[in-house]
Amino acid sequence: MSMHAVRGTKDVFGDEMLLWHRAEQVFREVTAAFNYREFRTPIFEHTEVFKRGVGQDTDIVGKEMYTFEDRGGDSLTLRPELTAPIVRACIEHSLLHHNPVQRIWYAGPQFRYERPQKGRYRQFHQFGAECVGSPHPEADAEVILLSYEALRRFGVTSFKLEINSLGNAAVRAAYRSALIEFFEHHKGELSEESQKRMYTNPLRVLDSKNEKDRQVVASAPLLQDYLDEESKIHMTSVLALLNSAGVPYVINPYLVRGLDYYNHIVFEFTTDALGAQNAIGGGGRYDPLFALLGGGDQPAVGFSIGIERMILLHQAEHSQEALVESEPRGVYIIAIGDSSRDTVHTLAVQLRREGIHVVTDLLRRSIKAQMKDANRENVAFTVMIGDDELATGSAVLKNMVTGEQQTINQSAVVSVVK
Ligand code: AMP
Repeated sequence: MSMHAVRGTKDVFGDEMLLWHRAEQVFREVTAAFNYREFRTPIFEHTEVFKRGVGQDTDIVGKEMYTFEDRGGDSLTLRPELTAPIVRACIEHSLLHHNPVQRIWYAGPQFRYERPQKGRYRQFHQFGAECVGSPHPEADAEVILLSYEALRRFGVTSFKLEINSLGNAAVRAAYRSALIEFFEHHKGELSEESQKRMYTNPLRVLDSKNEKDRQVVASAPLLQDYLDEESKIHMTSVLALLNSAGVPYVINPYLVRGLDYYNHIVFEFTTDALGAQNAIGGGGRYDPLFALLGGGDQPAVGFSIGIERMILLHQAEHSQEALVESEPRGVYIIAIGDSSRDTVHTLAVQLRREGIHVVTDLLRRSIKAQMKDANRENVAFTVMIGDDELATGSAVLKNMVTGEQQTINQSAVVSVVK
């Protein structure tokens, strides 16, 4: 049996955990400011949710899902993304009957069988939000501003917001045909993968990273030239809202994102600071998804951000020391000899009930070794109790910052250290 974490997964512990906690705090604060409510769906779903919701031709469904048959013979899949499960849940619980606009956020693990490398894992975490029920550009702008605000408040800056419009269904159908026709003329110049994809999902060829494909794509027709009036108005309205919020962006006409269900606005946060994995997060409007999952016509827009990549970006921009808790806190209660152990225990119970951070020795060490441990734990005070103190109900309190020492009543410890 191999005693190490599965390839593509990682343990989070120690100082890195401080960054995760800070990220989670930011998600809570920002979503509260935007009136989004947290939603937690199961880690696995019926495979059909993703097949229908993410799309058969996508990399996710085609190559990356952790799908298995359970003991009852059902095909289940560890969620590779959370938009389809949230939509499934909105439909299942008829949420839109209760409130015609649902503002939902989530954070949690996702699973994709990808080739692991820095910033790309097989279990990774996403923070995301979905705004369901509004077809208007205000909703698009709201989720973009929410995601931007989360990154800003988390303290990362070396990223760029890229944005594009995929237009409505009619626009994309016309553009799709034009693209296929164009790629047919250049078929020999495309990568093998794109030669297959140009018929099933020609828009995906546009954001291929392959150098050969990129050269062909550079002269491909642009979707922007096919946009109808409605799509143009939607896009310019979203951009105007971003402008007035002072959020910088660049228009990237080749941005299509990997999933089939997007229409109108798509956007991505990209960075040069993380090597090959340049996407920190992204999203877009996905009006067709509700119907695909049997929920009728229901407009929606959302995003998701990779938490590991957000954290890597933070680490690239800031030193870890800035995060480590350097302020001394709490109390180390030192037992001198076996006889004081019970009193140390009861005092620890009392202090902890008052919410005070308390450390006690679990190795029955000498006073010197406990003092050393207290230094390592970076406590603000030590409290020593030995035979003399037991006899008088007192304790020797030391302020670890000033070095000042005094004997006080055991019952006074709480008020002094609090
Ligand atoms: P996607 O839904 O594929 O656009 O993913 C949204 C975000 O999740 C990306 O921008 C990444 O930050 C993150 N992400 C996607 N796949 C992975 C992965 N395999 N490992 C780590 N982060 C990922």
